[in-house]
Amino acid sequence: MKIYRLFNTLPRPRSYAGRVLLICFVGTHIPLITFALWALVKNPAFGRENWADLLVLLLATLAGTAITFVLVHGMLAPVRVVTQALGDYRQNKQLPALPRNLSDEAGTMLSQVQESLEELDLTLSNLARAAETDPLTGIGNRRWLVSRAEEQIDRAQRTQAPLCAVLFDLDRFKAINDRYGHAKGDAVLVGVSRFVKGELRSSHLFARTGGEEFCLILPKTSLDDAVALAERIQKGLSGQSIARLDPGVVTASFGVVERESGEKDLSSLLRRADDLLYQAKNDGRNQVATSTLAEGFRSR
Ligand code: GH3
Ligand code: MG
Ligand code: MG
Repeated sequence: MKIYRLFNTLPRPRSYAGRVLLICFVGTHIPLITFALWALVKNPAFGRENWADLLVLLLATLAGTAITFVLVHGMLAPVRVVTQALGDYRQNKQLPALPRNLSDEAGTMLSQVQESLEELDLTLSNLARAAETDPLTGIGNRRWLVSRAEEQIDRAQRTQAPLCAVLFDLDRFKAINDRYGHAKGDAVLVGVSRFVKGELRSSHLFARTGGEEFCLILPKTSLDDAVALAERIQKGLSGQSIARLDPGVVTASFGVVERESGEKDLSSLLRRADDLLYQAKNDGRNQVATSTLAEGFRSR
């Protein structure tokens, strides 16, 4: 790296290719200059007497230099391509398609960069998915919900389409853990997630937002439709066996809200849903609570 660093201190040329070409220029002219000096020392009249020979030598040197320039510039292509590929990946996360079948040092650099970027990209997307996934149930976690829901809330705000949030929490889940064990409790969480997923459309967002608390964000859904879905899930859960427990052992309480005009905040939506969920718990659990601006609190 010493020679490279030394050339790096030159004010000009600034580009790497320019510096390599400068070296080529000097290198290809050394024989011409050496020969001319030696000939002049030997015979000061050499230039005048042999100008045609000198001209041929000069033209041959210039032609050799031009060919060297073109070829060396082409040989430096891997450096330019790799620089471009790394920059594109850094800025746009765009994977390059560098050749992998070239075996000299520059070819190895190309294939190593290609493979390193592919591995990095896979690792980053696995990490991103893991950071947004609940490991027990495989559904999204709160972080995932926040990032996706904000987009949907923005869209609902722009298009004035309705959007609802459903928050639900398993009833007396601690007692299930205490009675059947933590592993069974885990199986219940998985069973509940699986059942709820089966009731949803692809546009619905479903996440586990706490230990035994789940959330649904329902874009383009009216409050009536959201309540109907929540009731279907509530009745479905209590009416069937989850994780091989008797029907009625696993139940949940629900709070359902519709986004109010101008409400841009997911946390505000969830706070209102949580108040209703609390109300449903207080009213005896295993039920859906909702409210409209006109009617105030409504519990079913
Ligand atoms: P409520 O009807 O008022 O919601 O009562 P609850 O017992 O469901 O609520 P509480 O908050 O008292 O207890 C929640 C329990 O959920 C306590 C905690 O051990 C359990 N829990 C939280 N996360 C997990 C989990 O990942 N697996 C299991 N098996 N249990 C969990
Ligand atoms: Mg609970
Ligand atoms: Mg809870």
